Amino acid sequence: MKANKILVNCPGCGKKIEYGATEFSPFCSRSCKMKDLVSWANEDYVIVSDQMNDDDETIKNDEDGDKLKYN
Ligand SMILES: [Zn+2]
Repeated sequence: MKANKILVNCPGCGKKIEYGATEFSPFCSRSCKMKDLVSWANEDYVIVSDQMNDDDETIKNDEDGDKLKYN
């Protein structure tokens, strides 16, 4: 009997790997698994820091938008 192989794309790098082939599955390697965890942590951090600087950016963007309309 031939076992069906389930191929998945590694969420870290997009490489096709056999699901369950490694202990890091569905990641192809430990580094991709760690990278994914780190990127999640970084996203949280970016969201927090964005909110701190967001006021200036938002006002500038609104002004630009109005100028574009009048032009
Ligand atoms: Zn990978």
